[in-house]
Amino acid sequence: MSERDDITRGLRQLLELDRAFGIEFLPRVETPAVSVRRPAESPAPVPVAAAQEALASSEPLLPAAALAAIAREVAACKRCGLCSGRTNTVPGEGDAAARLVFVGEGPGADEDAQGRPFAGPAGDLLTKMIAAMGLAREQVFLTNVVKCRPPDERQPDASEAAACLPFLERQLLAIRPTVICTLGNTPLRTLMGDPKLGIISMRGKRLVWKGIPLIPTFHPSYLLRNTPAKKPCWEDLKVVMQLLKEHTDG
Ligand code: SF4
Repeated sequence: MSERDDITRGLRQLLELDRAFGIEFLPRVETPAVSVRRPAESPAPVPVAAAQEALASSEPLLPAAALAAIAREVAACKRCGLCSGRTNTVPGEGDAAARLVFVGEGPGADEDAQGRPFAGPAGDLLTKMIAAMGLAREQVFLTNVVKCRPPDERQPDASEAAACLPFLERQLLAIRPTVICTLGNTPLRTLMGDPKLGIISMRGKRLVWKGIPLIPTFHPSYLLRNTPAKKPCWEDLKVVMQLLKEHTDG
């Protein structure tokens, strides 16, 4: 459970206690600046019920608001040279409360043109893989290590990945999914902080990123070129499904 969840739960318990003890209004705490402007006025009390409602309604908005703020920062970002060749930034899309996040390498031509991740043939294959897992594409969150297209369909280099990593980390911490599934070498190396890792030797292993299970598998563009790799990839996705099920059942 995140620190924010702990704080929210604690606040809710305090408000419930207040109501149980017959307290219907809370004193409003003013900042010094407001007090200077209205020194003679006593601030209006806040109804406990209204505070409870505000707390409840604000919870689901928090990850979505965080993701929207990140997307706005990405749109203006010039931290690395990839900004000069982009048509659109591609921050990611999907459910802000997703239990599963897929992280790819970087936008290709289709993604750059549309501003959406996994938009071309590899994206079509990923959508089918997600459907085979019993999920809709809209139920997961899709993003990449770098949010701008590397030229000539090359992989992002280490400095580009490092420059963009704070955006990805903030996205993952805002969503806090049950499972992260990395696709290809770049997200595996970048999130695990080890440039020597390779997907061929690492797939099939269960990793952890900041307390969240991370399952590495092949990128769908690799699967389009190497059909036999689909079988081990499906084995990896079955592990992802098992982790999701264990979390639901538990
Ligand atoms: S790839 Fe990332 S770090 Fe580089 S310019 Fe785009 S958003 Fe900024």
